[in-house]
Amino acid sequence: MSIAETYQQVIAWSKDVSLAGAIFEMLDWDLQVNLPKKGFARRSDQLAWIQGQRHRRLTDKEMVAKVYELADRMNELDADAQVNVREWKRALDRATKAPVELVEEIARHNSLTQGVWIEARKNSDFAKFAPYLEKTVDLQKQLASAWGFARPYDGLLDANEPFATEASIRALLDDLKARLVPFLHRIFGAKQYDASPIVGRNFPVDKQREFGLAVIGKLGFDFDGGRQDVSAHPFCTGTKGDVRITSRFFADDPRPSLFGMIHEAGHAMYEQGLPDDRLGTPLGESVSLGVHESQSRFWENIVGRSIPMWRYFYPEIKKAFPAALGDVPLETFHRCVNVVAPSLIRVEADEATYNLHIILRFEIERALLAGELRVADLPAAWNAKMKEYLDIAVPNDAEGVLQDVHWSLGSLGYFPTYTIGTLYGAQLWDKIRADMPGLEALIARGEFAPLLEWLRQHIHRYGKRYGGDELIERATGKKPTAEPFMNYLREKFGPLYGV
Ligand code: ZN
Repeated sequence: MSIAETYQQVIAWSKDVSLAGAIFEMLDWDLQVNLPKKGFARRSDQLAWIQGQRHRRLTDKEMVAKVYELADRMNELDADAQVNVREWKRALDRATKAPVELVEEIARHNSLTQGVWIEARKNSDFAKFAPYLEKTVDLQKQLASAWGFARPYDGLLDANEPFATEASIRALLDDLKARLVPFLHRIFGAKQYDASPIVGRNFPVDKQREFGLAVIGKLGFDFDGGRQDVSAHPFCTGTKGDVRITSRFFADDPRPSLFGMIHEAGHAMYEQGLPDDRLGTPLGESVSLGVHESQSRFWENIVGRSIPMWRYFYPEIKKAFPAALGDVPLETFHRCVNVVAPSLIRVEADEATYNLHIILRFEIERALLAGELRVADLPAAWNAKMKEYLDIAVPNDAEGVLQDVHWSLGSLGYFPTYTIGTLYGAQLWDKIRADMPGLEALIARGEFAPLLEWLRQHIHRYGKRYGGDELIERATGKKPTAEPFMNYLREKFGPLYGV
């Protein structure tokens, strides 16, 4: 068989695996959005079955052999094929190198640990969770080692952020921390304001939804290739042609639904911008969690919480909520959606302090995996860092070290992707502004198409061709650093806080 024939067979296999994944995603979307109570047992059988089919197809011995054969003959392939083969091999290294017994043990342990974590968090009882977390760390180390990584953190991180390493992330985050901590302490020492001028008023949920949909439509979300529904936790799923986002609503505060919708629409517009003719292959897939977050946070924070954005949309939102916002000036509203303050809970943190929550978790995870920190000492380490970075005392472990679901799911090496996305987003913003003088005037006129087009041209259309850092470097001409993000924060929050 010629190499071209082998490649075509592998393309067909890749599309099969991708199809099974897409079916799983739709069944899971339906579970989270529509499923009646009595349907859960049957649905989990369906999900497990399709997941099993996907795994069997993915690890089909004949196809695995063909992928490794192509990888051995890489120099005979064209550039596009090389990208696909590189990514297929990466996926198979993970799917086939870990012993089945280890994979099963991890699945068993994680589902057990999740239940323990829910109880431990409810009772703020870290001691109960600790032995399970110890085992999680041990199992995840074994997994990374089975994948062939000398440093466990590198392996776990690479699963979420391809080609990133502990060292590369550490350099980025150390740089950010050194600049961010003093800047935030200046803000914390300045005159504070809060969101009380709007929160607590009446924002009818049907109007919130209507307004949110109008906003994301204007930003460029394609409703012929996607839809929006309601779920307990907002998320984005699906593939090009059918990308689905979800939101949740609070009648006394429009911010979570509005910025949540813009955030998820940012993820969705990335998926909607992937190249049509590559679907079902790595060249038609998003790069990484970090690059995904660079898109969602870009639209949510950099664009969505900016003054030009609200110069355009403020008359509209006032029309939607005349009773609640009639007496609120634009500048007050803008402050209400840009409050910076230390807080205990990561998911409720603002765009500036959020990154310290991530840095704290990264430092703790890497120390745990390197054997420099014992699980038993984790709450003390957590609380000390909260004091040092955010100047905040942690009252109990439920609001401290036990707050996130990630560790209970065995997800280590995941948190940094949130901040990587934040830094990427600010670096893209810098470059877009340089490329498009008058961009802010365009936004203030409600003209978002040139902005989305820039992202389509420089980010979306490449699929997995480059790793995250390389993609951002190619798009901006510079290696990713924390500097553009710090400039962005200074430019935005300096005037708001007078620092
Ligand atoms: Zn996101």
